[in-house]
Amino acid sequence: MTVTAQPVPILSDNYAWLLRDDTSGAIAIVDPAEGPPIIAAIEAAGGRLDLILLTHHHADHIAATDEVRARFPAPVVGAAADAHRLPKLDQAAKEGDEVHFGNATARVIDTPGHTRGQINYFFPDGEVLLAGDTLFSLGCGRLIEGTPAEMFSSLRKLAALPGGTKVCAGHEYTEANAKFALSVDPDNAALRAMAEQVHRLRAAGQPTLPSLLADELKANPFLTAPDVATFADRRARKDRF
Ligand code: ZN
Ligand code: FE
Repeated sequence: MTVTAQPVPILSDNYAWLLRDDTSGAIAIVDPAEGPPIIAAIEAAGGRLDLILLTHHHADHIAATDEVRARFPAPVVGAAADAHRLPKLDQAAKEGDEVHFGNATARVIDTPGHTRGQINYFFPDGEVLLAGDTLFSLGCGRLIEGTPAEMFSSLRKLAALPGGTKVCAGHEYTEANAKFALSVDPDNAALRAMAEQVHRLRAAGQPTLPSLLADELKANPFLTAPDVATFADRRARKDRF
């Protein structure tokens, strides 16, 4: 395993992610939206920064990008489709592009739905997925700019990744997501076990992320939805839940 990911709690319920490539010592930060805790996490990791990855243009994912790169100059990667509303990019990325990080390489996956220019990054080395606001544990992002068909198709792409993939999402929404998921699928044993674990972790003040894709495939109502119509119905119900 080369790439490992550690959540950095920021703002009220966001996670930035600190990535380390163990073979080179390289450090990356994903979605730097608040300066002080992110700068502290980079200092604690040795005070070097090699790469900044952005998943989408919302302020709770990008707001401190310029502050962090002023302190630790590092190239910034974000979606080509949203370059006009992202901080200045050194690499404008789209589906299938490669992003180099130490000795590792991430594959870019276009995942429109929450926003038009949403991208996710997958590192086969370490099976790490930076899921932004596309896939949450037991949930998915709200459809702010995309259609149900777009988000369904984005989630199908993520569902095809290896089961051991660590899902590193942008928010700690898991406990509320579990309540909705249980209302959809109350007899799902895998979901009930996950919901209990989530409750224990949150009661102890621990993050519920990353989660395992194999578990999400069994328990996440937006990944178990068999077709776009079911997905759209669940997404609309979640908005009102
Ligand atoms: Zn967002
Ligand atoms: Fe967000």
